[in-house]
Amino acid sequence: MASFDLSGRTALVTGSSRGLGRAIVEGLAAAGARVIVNGVDAARIHSAVGELRAAGHNAEGVAFDVTSEASILAAFEKFDADGVRIDILVNNAGIQVRKPLVEFSTADWRRVIETNLTSAFVIGREAAKRMIARGHGKIINIGSLGSEMARPTVGPYTAAKGGVRNLTRAMAVEWAQHGIQANAIGPGYMLTDMNQALIENAEFNSWLMSRIPSKRWGKPDELVGAAVFLASPASDYVNGQIIYVDGGMSAAM
Ligand code: NDP
Repeated sequence: MASFDLSGRTALVTGSSRGLGRAIVEGLAAAGARVIVNGVDAARIHSAVGELRAAGHNAEGVAFDVTSEASILAAFEKFDADGVRIDILVNNAGIQVRKPLVEFSTADWRRVIETNLTSAFVIGREAAKRMIARGHGKIINIGSLGSEMARPTVGPYTAAKGGVRNLTRAMAVEWAQHGIQANAIGPGYMLTDMNQALIENAEFNSWLMSRIPSKRWGKPDELVGAAVFLASPASDYVNGQIIYVDGGMSAAM
């Protein structure tokens, strides 16, 4: 399984203090990577790093808001100063705001687009500049079923995740020649804090179970296989793709 081995690689996963990002850092660390946990809440990062280290993993944390370009630039300058090379970037941090489009304020629209889409461009650009200089790198953007399809009340999120899908393609066509693979994962409905209101909503659950071939919610650690694949040499000729990990939902009519 050497082609899935991440030993000697360093992975930055945004929004990895909890939820899907947290499962992804655990998976990348178990495959041998040194992982850098990110989020806004420093206490959550601290406890995630503590738990990863207690499990024998090589982990550290860096708090920054993915919507703050100044903080992103400062984080990368510190990586440079400390000799930290980001070989694997997972653009995972994201938020959801649910409202009908006619009730969405422009400020909320911008907040969703900046957190879910613009952050992936800015952090991706900073990581890629350094990856290009080294001649290799892996970028994994977290999309969604919303990268392809829409549901009422999540318009800005759908626009952002459609953008993530095409940003991934844009990264791939410009950076493949430099040894970088940029791909995306499209999770289906997963059991995380982001979905707490839906998980508790009986009507939504009954709609979901009628639609989803696997007849169940996804668990965060079910993304690990795709993440390790896309972070590892096993995917060195895979570029610009989005892999859906969704219990078959995007395949069903
Ligand atoms: P959670 O709400 O459970 O976790 C969000 C994570 O992102 C936290 O670590 C949070 O940090 C961090 N975060 C949020 N805003 C920022 C910010 N501005 N700067 C830095 N970190 C931030 O979300 P999920 O794990 O469910 O979602 C993760 C990704 O997966 C998102 O991109 C989401 O759109 C996507 N996704 C999720 C699906 C699902 O069913 N859950 C389905 C499809 C896609 P903190 O703890 O500091 O707040």
